Amino acid sequence: MSRTPPADAESRRAVPPVLCYPLDRLPQPDMALMSLMRDSLTPAGTVTVPPRDARVLSARAGQVVRILSVEGPQVGDLNLWAANDLSEKFYSGKTRQLHGTHVTTGDRLWSCFPFLRPMATLIADTLAWYGTDPHGGRVHDVIGTRCDPYTNRLLSGDDYHHCCHSNLTRALAEYLGISVTEAEPHVHDVLNVFMCTGFTQDSGQYFMKQSPVRPGDYIEFFCEMDLLLALSACPGGDCGAEHSSDTAKCHPLRIEVYDPDPDLLARWVPPQPGGYDRTHGAG
Ligand SMILES: [Zn+2]
Repeated sequence: MSRTPPADAESRRAVPPVLCYPLDRLPQPDMALMSLMRDSLTPAGTVTVPPRDARVLSARAGQVVRILSVEGPQVGDLNLWAANDLSEKFYSGKTRQLHGTHVTTGDRLWSCFPFLRPMATLIADTLAWYGTDPHGGRVHDVIGTRCDPYTNRLLSGDDYHHCCHSNLTRALAEYLGISVTEAEPHVHDVLNVFMCTGFTQDSGQYFMKQSPVRPGDYIEFFCEMDLLLALSACPGGDCGAEHSSDTAKCHPLRIEVYDPDPDLLARWVPPQPGGYDRTHGAG
């Protein structure tokens, strides 16, 4: 097979891109209402996620969840499920297609098929200032999956048991009172909270770099349904060097849950599952 470019290679490359999913066709969250609700929040609970470990908690529809950096820079891997049906879970790939490789205030975390509805709406992000750095890196990644012992074994030949995949599996098993074997299939691709990533310009490879997060930084999201959340404090710490080992300095993460004013919450309209009839042309 020839690798010689065709005569019209440059003109083929010069064709302008088209956005796959124009955002103006998406149902938009009522950010003015979200802003009012943010001003009305009262604390409803706190969970601390230890380093190289994960915790699961539930949050009701209408509650606000804040993931907070404490003590030192730390990346977190987040899974979401509908509390009453674990088959409805966060779909990072579709979220990426809809909002881009990284998410921030105003973006939503979408559920898998056949539901495809917002599970949560991001309403605050203290790292929104970061934008795109000179390497093409951005923060709050929905391109990486989660560090896991299978890839680690493949690449290093070693077994490491505190990758985010394993942390999420253990925490879910403990929360639900099931075995890790039963819990593992529920763990899915994550929102990499605070993680700074991108693709190299020359080879298109996935890269990570030291997160700009500092203690006091947070992201906040409004729960669009009753949720089960799992958050792992990644063994990569700030992910500035390596993960899948005990090498990096790691810190806890804090999850805070808040209740908005009930009168404001009464104005919120819960999202419904997508309207597709699921016949798939089968007649
Ligand atoms: Zn990880």
